Amino acid sequence: MRTDEPHPIRLQDYRPPDWLIDTVELDVSLDATAAHVRASLLLRPNPKAAAPAPLVLDGDGLTLVALKLDGEPLATAQYVATPDRLSLAQPPQRPFRLEIETQVDPSANTQLMGLYRSGKTYCTQCEAEGFRRITYFPDRPDVMAIYTTRIEADITDAPVLLANGNLKESGTLPDGKRHFAVWHDPFPKPSYLFALVGGTLAFVEDHFRTMSGRDVTLRIYVEPGKEDRCGYAMDSLKRSMRWDEQAFGREYDLDMFMIVAVSDFNMGAMENKGLNIFNDKYILASPETATDTDYASIEAIVAHEYFHNWTGNRITCRDWFQLCLKEGLTVFRDQEFTSDERSRPVERIKDVRGLRAHQFVEDAGPLAHPVRPTLYHEINNFYTTTVYEKGAEVVRMLQVLLGPQQFRKGMDLYFTRHDDEAATIEQFVQCFADASGRDLSQFMLWYAQSGTPEIVATGSYDTRAKTYRLDLAQTLPPTPGQPTKEPMVIPLVAGLVGPDGRDVPLQRADGGPVERGLLTLDRPAASYVFTGIEQRPVPSINRGFSAPVRLTVNVGDEDLRFLANHDSDPFNRWQAVHTLAMRLLVDSTAAIRRSEPPRQDPALVAALDAVLNSRDLEPAFVAQVIALPSESDIAREIARDVDPDAVYAARQALRLAVKASLSKTLTTIYERLSSPEPYSPDADAAGRRALKNTCLDLITAAGEPSAIALAKRQYERADNMTDRMAALQALSLCDCAERTAALEDFYRRYAGDPLIVDKWLSLQAAIPEPATLERVKALTSHAAFSMANPNRVRALVGAFAMSNQTQSNRVDGRGYDFIVDTVLAIDPKNPQLAARLLSALKSWRVLEPKRRSLARAALKRVADTPSLSRDVGDIVQRALAEG
Ligand SMILES: [Zn+2]
Repeated sequence: MRTDEPHPIRLQDYRPPDWLIDTVELDVSLDATAAHVRASLLLRPNPKAAAPAPLVLDGDGLTLVALKLDGEPLATAQYVATPDRLSLAQPPQRPFRLEIETQVDPSANTQLMGLYRSGKTYCTQCEAEGFRRITYFPDRPDVMAIYTTRIEADITDAPVLLANGNLKESGTLPDGKRHFAVWHDPFPKPSYLFALVGGTLAFVEDHFRTMSGRDVTLRIYVEPGKEDRCGYAMDSLKRSMRWDEQAFGREYDLDMFMIVAVSDFNMGAMENKGLNIFNDKYILASPETATDTDYASIEAIVAHEYFHNWTGNRITCRDWFQLCLKEGLTVFRDQEFTSDERSRPVERIKDVRGLRAHQFVEDAGPLAHPVRPTLYHEINNFYTTTVYEKGAEVVRMLQVLLGPQQFRKGMDLYFTRHDDEAATIEQFVQCFADASGRDLSQFMLWYAQSGTPEIVATGSYDTRAKTYRLDLAQTLPPTPGQPTKEPMVIPLVAGLVGPDGRDVPLQRADGGPVERGLLTLDRPAASYVFTGIEQRPVPSINRGFSAPVRLTVNVGDEDLRFLANHDSDPFNRWQAVHTLAMRLLVDSTAAIRRSEPPRQDPALVAALDAVLNSRDLEPAFVAQVIALPSESDIAREIARDVDPDAVYAARQALRLAVKASLSKTLTTIYERLSSPEPYSPDADAAGRRALKNTCLDLITAAGEPSAIALAKRQYERADNMTDRMAALQALSLCDCAERTAALEDFYRRYAGDPLIVDKWLSLQAAIPEPATLERVKALTSHAAFSMANPNRVRALVGAFAMSNQTQSNRVDGRGYDFIVDTVLAIDPKNPQLAARLLSALKSWRVLEPKRRSLARAALKRVADTPSLSRDVGDIVQRALAEG
């Protein structure tokens, strides 16, 4: 176990900064191994802090070259400089200028934090604490300053020089070999939003006219030769800019907006002011190289980073505990954008599937934490699905509770009241309280209490009184550090569906209003009695997934089939089929573990058939309905003593049953949707492909020769990556000669394109058969693989650890060993990447005893390794912690 245990950072210890910075002038001379950084900071004592205060600046692995105060070199007795800190015990208690020279080695920076090289491009990543790897600085988000950045570099090494803001000046130096560019950002920003880029880059350019008529130049920079794959990202950017004006009244504020795509990146993308830096995976797309899912991700992530300009950049976070202030809110905004651009019901289903698959699992395990944590050891480990996706759900609940108009008023107030500030969650929620006149103090528990609320709804119809009674009860299970909980405010949108399929008007016996079908449960339990109900209705609760809860309703299978056909809420139509399938799969898994045959449910198959044949449903929606719960969905539902092999067998049995019963329907739809029209990435066309390829997945479930031939034909004839990948995926699930041939062909076709090779790696890592582990191990030595590149590691080892339930959880424990070996190999070079990978083992406690003890032993082996990074040390300690 590591010994240099750092002190945890606590929310309650927050103090305003002792020193403020008005301006930062940076002069960066780029060099592959010795980049020179001169920072000139105009400091002044913070009137809100206790004076006189020493000056303590953060560093991380820095070497101080020179230090001046108001132009005079400082004597060594006047300061202490270590790699992690620069402190002046007695700085003048007045405004002064500090000039700091440091030197950094971009090529040796394998953490990909601070200034590093991706290929031959210089780039930066400063969130959360990377700026301190460039220069000494009060590296915290509540120190906001105006930045001017001068970059100098060899013209041939870095012909393009970019930084935040607007370009002020550029030119060639007298030697003719080096050149420079000066960028000025007029908006105050925290250091984590600083960015610079230097390299040989090509760009595509477009323009956007803002709502007030200003012209903004838009540029996307990529490796030369890839310009023709930026079109969809640029289109997404322009649509995002327009949408933010229309939906939130937010206008872009600089003359230029730039995106740079780089191939070595720890995250998806970064919203640096005016200069977003992206993982190239989320920029580059063409029909031949990107799937519909890739296109959708590009649209969502370009929008997300753009929306940060207001929610994150103009208004930033006071401290990192408030991370959800920018992330939850911005995820909510990008989800709304996608819903407006595509199909709202389908997007909601996809978002909820993702939330349950990742956030609910996190909430139920040892890494559970509140949307706003109160303590951390390593902030990099809190860029989690709880902060992002559950954080977005909390904002969505505010909208549900207040209604769209009041919600918009609250957002407008937030933008005017806190512009140019570093804000807190309290300040954010107060804007909605002030705009609506509502008391939202209990609502704040959503930010403070971890765990997923469990709601039990019990309905009963009184034939004689013609009333329907709905009893609701909530509990919130204990989570690490939170043994007991307070009742939450839970907005449940509900309806009662009459036998004719129409919603019955909701009239409460006590006269209480039911606006927008909203029942707000804010006590441990509550009862609602509705009057004037002529016939027994079926309750439809948590419509649109209005609250992120686990819901149990006493609705029988017959009623669920009724809702699947008739509910006016499309989300709950999908949910009804999903619940039916889940009930069956849980029963079947238990049966298989008792060596009994899996349960059959002809009625479920009939419900699927009805949806498949329904003419009023859009194909993307139908695809969501017939895409059965995944193995991890089933494991999550079972929640304890999980045997992944039994789960797999149960799901496979259902796939075979669906295939056997609906073969004709599936084939008819498959053929109807196999159109020769040219590829378009729009939502409708993507929805048709999604349905066609979900049919293909079921058609090939039994691996019959005719089905394999169908998949092979689709693979060979595909004119787009979506169809080719779907066919390859179908083939990959059967151990046949066609699979081997297709995998070899795929690599031959795309060997030169790392992003496509990633798909090839992921696909092989996810094959649910015992040979996969050796295959994955062999692929780690493949020429196309590199442990140094996060995208490759995530594609191969990440896919194995996260998407291959049976093989990562092998009963001999070798899956865990492999994951842990990889984590330990990566940790010294890229701790963030290693920690993310290790978190795949977080659900080890729900496994059956044999696997549980093997997983625990693997985690113990990590914990016992000397000199772990703080990132990995934190994850492993929390994963193993008792209680
Ligand atoms: Zn974000």
